Amino acid sequence: MDHYAVFGHPVAHSRSPWIHARFAAATGVSLCYRRIDAAPECFETAVRAFFAGGGHGANVTLPHKHAACALADVVLPRAHTAGAVNTLMVLPDGRIAGDNTDGTGLVVDLVDNHHVALAGSRVLLAGAGGAAAGVLDALLDARPASLCIVNRTPERARALGAARDDARIDAGGFELLARAPAFDVVINATAASLDGDTPPIPAHCIAAHSVCYDLAYAVGGTAFNAWARAHGAVRVLQGTGMLVEQAAESFRLWRGVRPPTAEVRTRLDRLLGAG
Ligand code: NAP
Repeated sequence: MDHYAVFGHPVAHSRSPWIHARFAAATGVSLCYRRIDAAPECFETAVRAFFAGGGHGANVTLPHKHAACALADVVLPRAHTAGAVNTLMVLPDGRIAGDNTDGTGLVVDLVDNHHVALAGSRVLLAGAGGAAAGVLDALLDARPASLCIVNRTPERARALGAARDDARIDAGGFELLARAPAFDVVINATAASLDGDTPPIPAHCIAAHSVCYDLAYAVGGTAFNAWARAHGAVRVLQGTGMLVEQAAESFRLWRGVRPPTAEVRTRLDRLLGAG
């Protein structure tokens, strides 16, 4: 049986074993996928021990995505530009490769699952941490007319923007939004929801037509979901679909088959209550 794991700290909350068990059943394979809680100082040793012991692939979650990028022998392009790895695998020559499936996961969920027209749209991305870095290039590849990145620490947003040299990007602090018209798509990639908080996006950035997507997810929806609805947004989504789609992309990298996701997304949404 092939062995997989998700490394995090903490990791007890991770739904990845549940998701990959469903993918395994749907594709008719038998696999073992477990959670490994590794404190930052033990992360590299734990990953190397896992692969030395025959592990096939691993996911990496908070706070290890940057460390995973540093330890991988080969970093694939979308992980290299993000500076963050969420998927590890062994190459035939034994080297460990790192990739990032978060951006694909988000864009597949927005465009394929929710039929959001990213092409030609005005997109706001709040946050400049590992998740924002991971989704930025996939968002740009979806051909938005403009993409505004704002962050509590403005330098981090500017650094993300400057690294792309793309005329569609405007980046800085939340004050950039003082006179901005409503955006078509507003993506919360901050960790504020984890504390039941919302990023300081002015209410005028949201209109009825705005699609408001929180990368985070919570039972009954996140604080950002509630805030967006209270300010008139009709299409309010949380990151369960992204979670499932990034996992499906990891599964594809490991096993060469992209599993079906619809039933897993429906079941997860039912477990959490739709966002
Ligand atoms: P991270 O690297 O720790 O970055 C956190 C980001 O949030 C930074 O930009 C930080 O700003 C900002 N922030 C934190 N608290 C804030 C607050 N109260 N107000 C405004 N900004 C705040 O975390 P991450 O890995 O990017 O994760 C961000 C979120 O994405 C988390 O909720 C995570 O669960 C979610 N996520 C979901 C998926 C999925 O599959 N659905 C995948 C990856 C991540 P500063 O730079 O100023 O500190």
